[in-house]
Amino acid sequence: MIITNGMCEAVLDYLRNTNTQYAVFSKPDRAVVAIVGDSSRVDYGFISRMTNVLSARRLSEKNRLLSKTFGEAIKFNGVQINDVNIKQGGVPVIIAGPCAVESEEQYLRIARQCKEAGADILRGGVVKPRSSVHSWQGIGGGARDEFEEGYSIVADVAEELNMPVVSETRGQQHVKAAAQTLSMLQIGARNMYNQDLLNDVGHEGLPVLYKRNFGASIEEYLSFAEYILATGNANVVLCERGMLPFGLYKSASPTRYIMEISAIPVIHSLTYLPVIADPSHGTGRRDMVEDMAYAAIAAGADGLMIEVHDDPDNALVDGPQQITPSTLERIIKKCRAIYEIRSTK
Ligand code: PEP
Ligand code: MN
Repeated sequence: MIITNGMCEAVLDYLRNTNTQYAVFSKPDRAVVAIVGDSSRVDYGFISRMTNVLSARRLSEKNRLLSKTFGEAIKFNGVQINDVNIKQGGVPVIIAGPCAVESEEQYLRIARQCKEAGADILRGGVVKPRSSVHSWQGIGGGARDEFEEGYSIVADVAEELNMPVVSETRGQQHVKAAAQTLSMLQIGARNMYNQDLLNDVGHEGLPVLYKRNFGASIEEYLSFAEYILATGNANVVLCERGMLPFGLYKSASPTRYIMEISAIPVIHSLTYLPVIADPSHGTGRRDMVEDMAYAAIAAGADGLMIEVHDDPDNALVDGPQQITPSTLERIIKKCRAIYEIRSTK
């Protein structure tokens, strides 16, 4: 890790000459250069004496870009998505919207109700990860591959309502179109391990909503998050969305996934990045989303992602877990109250 107070071209030249991979995090008053991978050829003493270099030292932690030390070095102050800031300990940010965008009319109608209920950021899937090829793949995810139109529907609605919006990039081919239209890019649970997608999404520089895979340990999750950070993009929001029930419990499980509430304080202890919870996928059950939302906020979640539909029984995807806008309104009010109590010293 090298901190400079201005131009750092000479430092970058040195790193290139030593064939060292690096990422640059630029801030108004400083640049922080992070070495990615092998730093054995880097002479930190030599760099320390270069012009404009404030400090240079080797970080040894495995997930060094997510470490609290690195967060302090880049003066991390949360992830900014238009006017919305998500940070550890901040007022919980609510991301809401339907699982999938079904049509422009449906999306505008539900998005407006989410706004009225108090949501901060809109969501809406355009290309859906589905377990069966025979299922509907999302408005932009089918054989005709119309994801560009799909993303523009989402972006138009967000613009009309003057709200930030996040949507999933299911594959590398979606990244450019999504980045041109959206405020934030989502990497879904199934893609947690997709290094090439993490790299492409990270390079766009936009805020990233990065979901934990349902079988990944926390250590593995954070280790893969480093791939995004290694592009010089620290605007990453982590998301606990439930673990797959295993063994015998799988067939007997009353919920679709098992939310690991304790992952929230554990991740907070390991990194500076904010952590939100997704009680919709976490439970798969409309009647349990509300209680698990409260549990997550009580455990310190910095926000929630909740699926909302005005006619959940007829939703094209994830109907059983979508709540109505009026339930969302109650959840947001109570979450604010829980947050207040929690923040009282
Ligand atoms: C989603 O949020 O739309 C989604 C598909 O969730 P996950 O990737 O967590 O399954
Ligand atoms: Mn869903």
